[in-house]
Amino acid sequence: MMNAEYLGFMLIGGFFSIIGFIVSARLQSKFKHYSQIRIRSGLTGKEIAEAMLRHYGINDVQVIPAQGILTDHYNPATKTVALSEAVYATNSIAAAAVAAHECGHAVQHATAYSMLQLRSKLVPIVNFSAMTQQWLLIGSFMLINTVPQLLLITAIVFGVTALFSFVTLPVEFDASRRALAWLNESGMARGEEYAGAKDALWWAAMTYVVAAISALVMVVYLLLRYLGASRN
Ligand SMILES: [Zn+2]
Repeated sequence: MMNAEYLGFMLIGGFFSIIGFIVSARLQSKFKHYSQIRIRSGLTGKEIAEAMLRHYGINDVQVIPAQGILTDHYNPATKTVALSEAVYATNSIAAAAVAAHECGHAVQHATAYSMLQLRSKLVPIVNFSAMTQQWLLIGSFMLINTVPQLLLITAIVFGVTALFSFVTLPVEFDASRRALAWLNESGMARGEEYAGAKDALWWAAMTYVVAAISALVMVVYLLLRYLGASRN
């Protein structure tokens, strides 16, 4: 089963796992650093989020606490901005940056931002792909010489994941852009506070960039292997 084609795929996966690990370690250290610097306004993540939502006239979104570290997210289904413990009740640069970023998603939702809508539409397809892709991968490498077409199907299923990762990029960058613009204009984070928020959000975005590149390289690899196998 452990043929050269499969081994190659595992090596690519391993390589990007290491890159992903380095980037997420960097994000965590940045987050920790900016969590220790208080913002002058003294507002907690919760208060920052509520102020930003109010500014955009969003009255039907709830700001709630979430368990864990870096688990902050906006849920369009329940219309909630969930902030992790370290963000919700803390008045730091990191908390302000994350809270405003998640509200950026709430603003995207309220203004029907096209990329967010496309991303939401892809979620059920991506969930299906995620369930099947591991089995397809093993099956297609096992049958590479007899049924090379299976490798093409696998590439398409991985392609859905890659597409999703790439649609996620503008959504994430746009949420951070909105967050930083509001933090600056509202006077919540200016000067070095603004620079710190930008730095923290940049590393958060990099985790999505790595995921997207990794997904794309995997699809290209599968397609190349398919072309190689179907030629034999
Ligand atoms: Zn986000």
